[in-house]
Amino acid sequence: MDLEKIPPEPSGLPFSEQQGESVPVQERFAAYLEDLRRCDQCRLRSGAQRLVPGEGALNAPLMLVGEAPGLEEDRQGRPFVGPSGRLFERTLSKLAVSRGQIYVTNVIKYRTPENRLPRVGEQRVCSGHLRRELDLIRPKVIGALGAIAARALLGNAVRLKDVRGRRIEVMNTTVYPMYHPAFALRNLDRDPQILEIFEADLRRACRDAGLP
Ligand code: URA
Repeated sequence: MDLEKIPPEPSGLPFSEQQGESVPVQERFAAYLEDLRRCDQCRLRSGAQRLVPGEGALNAPLMLVGEAPGLEEDRQGRPFVGPSGRLFERTLSKLAVSRGQIYVTNVIKYRTPENRLPRVGEQRVCSGHLRRELDLIRPKVIGALGAIAARALLGNAVRLKDVRGRRIEVMNTTVYPMYHPAFALRNLDRDPQILEIFEADLRRACRDAGLP
């Protein structure tokens, strides 16, 4: 795909234009969590152990968006607490950034059966939740971890291999599509440099977010 053809505001972009709210962000976040807990619009909830909402600093300048919770996340009800989370925490700490300074979430809030790829309908339902998170946190920079996150943020026509490592400006927010940490871990043998690429992408995202 020719990158110049990515429209500045792709149709799949889950941001809203709405700005400024009189209700404190903590209260709006609590209301968001309540709605998330009540959501029964897809079947994933019945097969999963726990809801896995996003978490982190509500004024974070950097938001990392993954795909869907895995086994460990499903057990603990927290995003990125398994091998993928450990990889980006290790990488962040090399950059002198802590997990507490950022906000971490997933496109899909429940584990999928056997970690299968989330279906289009599931992604559609959950994109409303992601939109609310974006409106609440209003990060300066978003790291889209993997293809599912890149598409959720930039539109379905996007292919990760075309956009990874690029800096994409969308509605006053910078999106950095990058490898999913699980993909980086799986492909270490085939491509020993993949961790360096992951670190370089994360470093640029942190730098643009003003971190540390
Ligand atoms: N992979 C993801 O995409 N999200 C998690 O929370 C864990 C693994």
